[in-house]
Amino acid sequence: MLITNVRIFDGSGQAPFPGEVLIEDDRITRVTEAGKPWIDPAGAEVLDGGGATLMPGMVEAHAHLSWPSSIERFIPDFVLPPEEQLLATVRNARVVLESGFTSAYSAGALGERIEVVVRNEIDGGWTPGPRLRASTIERSPEGDPMATGDIHHGRGPEAIKAFVRFCKDIGIDQVKLQISGEDALLPGSSQHILYTEEEAQAAGEQARESDIWLSAHTQASEAIKMALRAGVRVLYHCTYADAEALDMLEARKDEIFVAPAIGVIVATLEATPPPHIDMSGMKEAAKPVIELSKTLIPELKRRGIRVLPGGDYGFPFNPNGTNARDLQHFVDLFGYTPTEALVAATKLGGELMGRGDELGLIKPGYLADLLLVKGDPTQDVSILQNRANLLMIMKGGKVHKSLLPVTQAA
Ligand SMILES: [Zn+2]
Repeated sequence: MLITNVRIFDGSGQAPFPGEVLIEDDRITRVTEAGKPWIDPAGAEVLDGGGATLMPGMVEAHAHLSWPSSIERFIPDFVLPPEEQLLATVRNARVVLESGFTSAYSAGALGERIEVVVRNEIDGGWTPGPRLRASTIERSPEGDPMATGDIHHGRGPEAIKAFVRFCKDIGIDQVKLQISGEDALLPGSSQHILYTEEEAQAAGEQARESDIWLSAHTQASEAIKMALRAGVRVLYHCTYADAEALDMLEARKDEIFVAPAIGVIVATLEATPPPHIDMSGMKEAAKPVIELSKTLIPELKRRGIRVLPGGDYGFPFNPNGTNARDLQHFVDLFGYTPTEALVAATKLGGELMGRGDELGLIKPGYLADLLLVKGDPTQDVSILQNRANLLMIMKGGKVHKSLLPVTQAA
């Protein structure tokens, strides 16, 4: 397929340029700029982009496809019977793809294998969805109350190692550890460290041996440091990072990623729940997070630490499908330029997925995960929030959606 008459934002951060892109099978094979010879369309399917912007598909860094609510269906409950939970997850995979996210890095699931089976269906081409790095039920050392089975419970290094091995065996891509508590759930608990050093170290050792990645919920400074010492690759929130934690993050900046998950914080403050739902505690907890993040995130960026959008979408007040709001929050709250926010969602997203050499850029050899956007997101990232502006969505060279005709060249 030849995509012509587009302005190309290639994900690198350079300004959009007029050009053409050729896709063969699942890859981008040529990218040309105006002024250079155009690509011969003979034999190709041709999509005339009409001057729209072609950009890499976005990557959601803190995905919860099994959190039930989406822009297509409000679901007041959180944990559903397994059949409904699975159907919601399948639906949310499509919704997130149709919202411009061709990859999703899971930050936890409401079911042991739910994301594994959905990922496998997506990879097989049997159901639409983003490239998914699957996780399982988030683990706190005491065991998550919703998790059944001894493997999710129990303390001590051996119990944690057994859990990591179990995750590897059932096909999980990354294990998420709750290293700190969370004020939105229990006031004050963001400063509680839920693991011992030995347990965290055991998780890291087993993860390296089993070749599986770790991510972690880390609010308190000590949780960040414990995660870094254990070899955690993706750190969520990091709200209370002190100077030493910042230095430790910077020292590991080529190996780690931070995702603040600011979307859920903004949505919590905006939420107007019905009278029988009390969000006052959550709103109180969100206020300091937003203020601290306004200083923290620009400092992380200044230090060259990779910070990615992705915002805990899937709650009734923060539904799946609104994921692109995070980019606007990066601009409004953290002082990112629209281009910087886009680079974080694309180039850095490819690196987050562990595929920086083939994902997240428009470049020959890269996977053809592409969005055709009406307007110029490098001027205004908010246009990405309107699905009607996504004129074409392609993943792995396959068109999932196109509002523009594809014609066959002679
Ligand atoms: Zn989350």
